[in-house]
Amino acid sequence: MKSYPGALEALMVQLRKLPGVGHKTAARLAFHLVRRPAAEIEALAAAILEVGERLVLCSSCQNPTESDPCPLCSDPTRDRHKLCVVEFPADLASIENSGAFKGRYFVLHGTLAPMQGVGPDDLRLEKLRQLVADGEIEEVILATNPTVEGNATALLVGEHLRPLGVRLSRPACGLPVGADLEYMDPVTISRSLAGRGSL
Ligand SMILES: [Zn+2]
Repeated sequence: MKSYPGALEALMVQLRKLPGVGHKTAARLAFHLVRRPAAEIEALAAAILEVGERLVLCSSCQNPTESDPCPLCSDPTRDRHKLCVVEFPADLASIENSGAFKGRYFVLHGTLAPMQGVGPDDLRLEKLRQLVADGEIEEVILATNPTVEGNATALLVGEHLRPLGVRLSRPACGLPVGADLEYMDPVTISRSLAGRGSL
């Protein structure tokens, strides 16, 4: 292990905690920051602090928000009988941008990935069960990505909710296998949601 100045090493340690950042990337980012003007680094640090201080997860949908419940959950014009379950906040944003869904959401913050140590207990399933058990929701759309992990997660969530007697559906046609909802165009998302089938 190379030895870097303390501040640089401390930065790399923190960067390596970010998803997808290993030793090499952490070093590359840290050295990049060393070369940037102090004002730019301050702006970055301030933005990170702001996220830490002002954002919480909505107690209902689990999406990051500055007010709890979030604007989506407290919007009285949204359909309170439909709930769309997604893997990550970015997926919620993609569906929301498509304009195809006017119900409520729930963010799992992950997919079932036993190899990476992500099991059922990590997916906030109990919070989801409570939300659905509260009674207003009639249909749960399992909009996890059409990947192996996403499909396994949809099945798991479906089994978890089935005893509650709600309709379970899964966006079907138009989603390419292995695709990522986050990067999908709004038209494909709209078609896929419209063509959802029972799970
Ligand atoms: Zn919310």
